[in-house]
Amino acid sequence: MSDLKAKLGLDVFKEDKAFPIAIKKGLERDPRLKKMVLICPAGLYGEDESGKIALSADGCLECGTCLLVCGADILDWQYPRGGAGVQFRFG
Ligand code: SF4
Repeated sequence: MSDLKAKLGLDVFKEDKAFPIAIKKGLERDPRLKKMVLICPAGLYGEDESGKIALSADGCLECGTCLLVCGADILDWQYPRGGAGVQFRFG
């Protein structure tokens, strides 16, 4: 197991289905999203063979980097409600 996965494995995530982070429909091939495959600290963005970018928001660290890089015109992005989202644990 990589150091990153071991560290992320210490955190706890409680999903808030009402406030998912999602790529807006039809924009999955926007070039700004490709940067996120390398930048997202939790490794939640992936690219398939056709160049389409997918996001699995489960495990999101709520850092906001993807919102800053891609903008609200590409992403639906909101913090989860209180009591949901990431709970950081440092071992
Ligand atoms: S907010 Fe941060 S951790 Fe969550 S998907 Fe965006 S870049 Fe990744």
